[in-house]
Amino acid sequence: MSDQITLPAELRDAATAARRPSRTEAEEAVRTLLRWAGDDPDREGLVGTPERVVRAYEEFFAGYDQDPVDILHRTFEETDGYDEMVVLRDIRLESHCEHHMVPIIGKAHVAYLPDRRVVGISKLARVVEIFSKRLQIQEKLTSQIANTINEVLQPKGVAVVIEAAHECMTTRGVHKPGVTMVTSRMLGAFRTSPATRREFMALIQGSNRGLSNA
Ligand SMILES: [Zn+2]
Repeated sequence: MSDQITLPAELRDAATAARRPSRTEAEEAVRTLLRWAGDDPDREGLVGTPERVVRAYEEFFAGYDQDPVDILHRTFEETDGYDEMVVLRDIRLESHCEHHMVPIIGKAHVAYLPDRRVVGISKLARVVEIFSKRLQIQEKLTSQIANTINEVLQPKGVAVVIEAAHECMTTRGVHKPGVTMVTSRMLGAFRTSPATRREFMALIQGSNRGLSNA
């Protein structure tokens, strides 16, 4: 067509980014990486690998298709006046670093101080899971979990602590196994009240069996 509309470059880029490649294209990309690694994607042991890798990616990155705000919307108000801290500790965390696409394995501790509304505890774990199943850096992951709980539940405070080992540090690069990174985000009362923060830290440290058995 001669009268085709020409989009400005930024819009063209956005349109390309938004178009999800087909499964076949994704599998082809895995074949390319296998060849790049120096192997033959057509040998018997590797024939099914692209398909398996793409399926694994669907699991690893399932969080892109899920909305953590939806998860938190069902709240309960019949709490008989419960207004103490709710803490969910030792939530298993499996994510992937956005710089190397290798695993980040650890655990998250999430707490909030309810203001009338509470949420089912499994929902807090689901929020951790949804943000984890995206490409991440630990700092952003920590903030996203805390900010989302804060915005949707509007509690008196939220605290999130994540301890995790990054395979990009343990299996490549500086090769430092046994190192864990700790990040935290404190909002509301957890930020303003040292006593509240101390109570939370004591509660999660009581459970601290460490990552070292991982
Ligand atoms: Zn990395």
